[in-house]
Amino acid sequence: MVAPQTYHLVTLGCPKNDVDSSHLARLLEGGALVPVADPREADAIIVNTCGFIEQSQAQSMEAIRTLAAQKREGQTLIVAGCMTQLYGREVKEATPAVDHVFGVGQWQEVARLLQVDPGAIYDIPEGNVRVVGPSAYLKISDGCDAPCTFCVIPKIKGGLRSAPAGLLVKEAQRLVGAGAKELVLVGQDTTAWGEDLGMRVGSGLPGLLRLLSEAVGPETWLRLMYAYPSRVTPELIETMAELPGVVPYLDVPLQHGSEAVLRRMKRPHQLERVYRFIDELRKAMPEVVLRTSFIVGFPGETEAEFEELLAFARAVEFDHAGCFTYSRQQWTDAYGMDEQVPEEVKAERRERFMVQQQAISARRAARFVGRTLELLVEGTGEDEDGAPVVAGRTYREAPEVDGLVFARGRARPGERVPVAIEDAGEYDLFGRVVRGGRGRGGRKAISP
Ligand code: SF4
Repeated sequence: MVAPQTYHLVTLGCPKNDVDSSHLARLLEGGALVPVADPREADAIIVNTCGFIEQSQAQSMEAIRTLAAQKREGQTLIVAGCMTQLYGREVKEATPAVDHVFGVGQWQEVARLLQVDPGAIYDIPEGNVRVVGPSAYLKISDGCDAPCTFCVIPKIKGGLRSAPAGLLVKEAQRLVGAGAKELVLVGQDTTAWGEDLGMRVGSGLPGLLRLLSEAVGPETWLRLMYAYPSRVTPELIETMAELPGVVPYLDVPLQHGSEAVLRRMKRPHQLERVYRFIDELRKAMPEVVLRTSFIVGFPGETEAEFEELLAFARAVEFDHAGCFTYSRQQWTDAYGMDEQVPEEVKAERRERFMVQQQAISARRAARFVGRTLELLVEGTGEDEDGAPVVAGRTYREAPEVDGLVFARGRARPGERVPVAIEDAGEYDLFGRVVRGGRGRGGRKAISP
């Protein structure tokens, strides 16, 4: 192959995949390859696929097919990532225009194929970061040891592998030095961090938060995503409440609200423990914002079990909740389970869940009206009258999943400004920049 000069990278799937793509981009650009937005201009096209559920696989295949159809002579088409870890041969057979197939974690091999020496230009062995505007994802671990019967991730990614604390501290400092105002901690299960390094179950993350907080200072927001319910310990809650930079926000995917379904999912199933830790979170941080996600239509889910989920979500009142229909995934225990739920029933349940949740989310958002929150500005623009507006996020919204805050006034992207909240929708908040007001962040973000 003639040494490529340009590349085009397409990423499917979750923020963890984005982190991997960011790592590959750093490798390639360190080797002097130039990214191009138009795939037709690229010497090499790389697709980082997602294999989590059938819909993600279908999206990945569609992206590959589109790029394969447009491929011109002399271009190299490479597919890699989760889906090809599982179905590499099938992808190659279905799209012969694909030149090379790689699995998960083979970014250095991709770089070598494109004639970049990864060792010579990259001093950090793991790909652990991705930058989104003023925020950066910091992947603290990869892989998972949990036995969830619907999930193929452990088969794709393997068991838990925590990034060493020293590496994470170094990366966190580098990112903040480069201007990041927020570090979003991700992993398949962030609360498992350190267990493979010999730490007691659930004990590693509080210590890591302290290290990171000390390294980047209280002004940098630290946000926790993907907590595992049984690992939200009193120690973790105390640490979150104590450290000023850790925002009072927790994403804890619960998957269901029926103990019987949770048992079949092989998830922590004692809901009374979930109620207890949510209570503890709200006592320690009254302003805490909770995100979760649920799966409806898991094999055997009865109408009564679905009603239990609705009742659970009403009782807890999550600020943000995602709802997915169960997707049958080869190589999982649930794949062969009897009583698969028909697609139309799954869709109808998801719709009922979302109607209920939209009302709850709107109610939770309305409690911020009349308060002043610190806004991390991501973009600027004008309203229909030509007046300046800014858009961004407060501690209440994680990047890319939770909606935005829009405010009249001026500020620069990356700046943090106080915003008086005047109105709330189901997902977004609206207000005005309060120049001269006090910008307060994290748990001190709220003026009553
Ligand atoms: S904890 Fe998450 S990543 Fe791990 S097996 Fe369960 S659903 Fe999959």
